Amino acid sequence: MDDLLTEAQRQHHRTITALVGTAWGAHGPDWENEAELPEEVVQWCAAQGLFGAVIPKEYGGLGWSAVELGLLYEALGRVSASLASLINVHGMVARTLVRWGSDAQRETLLPDLASGRRVAAVCMTERTAGSDLSGITTTLKEQPEGLRLDGTKLYTTFGRRADLYLVLAAGAGGQVCCLLERGNPGLEVTPMTGLLGLRAAGLATEVMRDCPVERSAVIGRPGFASTVLVPQLLEHGRHAVAWMAAGMLHRAFSACSAFVLGRETFGRNIVDHGQIQSLVTAMGVDLAAARALCLTASRALDDVDASAPRKVLMAKYLACQVLERHSAQAVQAMGAQGCLEENGVAGVYRDAKVLSIIEGTPQLLERLLAVPLAREAAAGGRP
Ligand SMILES: Cc1cc2nc3c(=O)[nH]c(=O)nc-3n(C[C@H](O)[C@H](O)[C@H](O)COP(=O)(O)OP(=O)(O)OC[C@H]3O[C@@H](n4cnc5c(N)ncnc54)[C@H](O)[C@@H]3O)c2cc1C
Repeated sequence: MDDLLTEAQRQHHRTITALVGTAWGAHGPDWENEAELPEEVVQWCAAQGLFGAVIPKEYGGLGWSAVELGLLYEALGRVSASLASLINVHGMVARTLVRWGSDAQRETLLPDLASGRRVAAVCMTERTAGSDLSGITTTLKEQPEGLRLDGTKLYTTFGRRADLYLVLAAGAGGQVCCLLERGNPGLEVTPMTGLLGLRAAGLATEVMRDCPVERSAVIGRPGFASTVLVPQLLEHGRHAVAWMAAGMLHRAFSACSAFVLGRETFGRNIVDHGQIQSLVTAMGVDLAAARALCLTASRALDDVDASAPRKVLMAKYLACQVLERHSAQAVQAMGAQGCLEENGVAGVYRDAKVLSIIEGTPQLLERLLAVPLAREAAAGGRP
């Protein structure tokens, strides 16, 4: 990928990869085994300013570009998908406030979010609504005593740890996003356990019973959520997940390569067997392609190019598909050693399946991509 980056971006990537790798390089499997990201890691992210990566400098953040953010997620993905998810969901909320928050919301919340004094999470999914968020039943209703939030949200990444939640609800004028404080008297947060992957991502269920919500906690206009806020929030998340997937595939490819170069069977190194050569070649080529598409998406976001939404969808689609395919192949090529948690690839294999579900399943992305891609191709254009 280095040859696709400017010198400054290369330097940024080297710095951030070394920073995260030196601090936490070998810890990912332990966190997954213990199903918990230690608080020390959260505090380290805060001390490094990573919670503010997406937040402009005027509010105390790092004000990084989409390319710089993408490279951060790639570096985090090399270490732990759960760690990368902490910064991602927090960034989704921060980004929404940067773009659509009121002046008061920006001034009061962004400095705390930038410093990591407060950690934020996104609550959209419900038992009846995941890919199709039109099915949400959580409501934000006007009552004689003020606005009240009622409903149950599931699968909230770092919901267990969050101080602030961005909640999608049905309001009088359509869907609406509002902020909910951890200490709200009607909020009950329960850990979700037993997950296939992202076990250290602190998932939780939030039950909201008659939660009082200030009018100033509503983000944007009613009805604006489904057309603008949620699509943009998801775009931010998909861009992050695409890069995260590239980082995870890098991890699997590195471990698998070291193994096949070093181990012998039937008188040769494993990498000299034709079937393994096919597998390793496809892994390396697909990783390079995924990184290139991620970078194309990041550049389109930085240029505020009209093609950015589609390029982000394409990057998420490709990166997660190749991660899923090749993490399974990496385990295969490493045999029993691939099944050992400590070798780092087993966890990538599990997390890869989860990454293809969060922020848009392949089926959902195909719904969004197929017609525009086909129309453009039929018209003689380039996707
Ligand atoms: C580890 C983890 C972390 C998560 N973190 C968060 C979070 O922080 N916040 C949050 O709000 N949510 C979170 N989620 C939920 C996640 O966003 C949803 O799981 C995802 O949107 C898919 O929704 P669903 O699980 O309800 O699947 P469904 O929407 O019920 O879909 C089930 C299957 O049907 C397929 N399908 C659906 N519609 C179609 C169609 N039209 N055509 C073809 N196939 C279709 C889907 O692709 C999928 O394969 C998380 C989930 C996990 C596992």
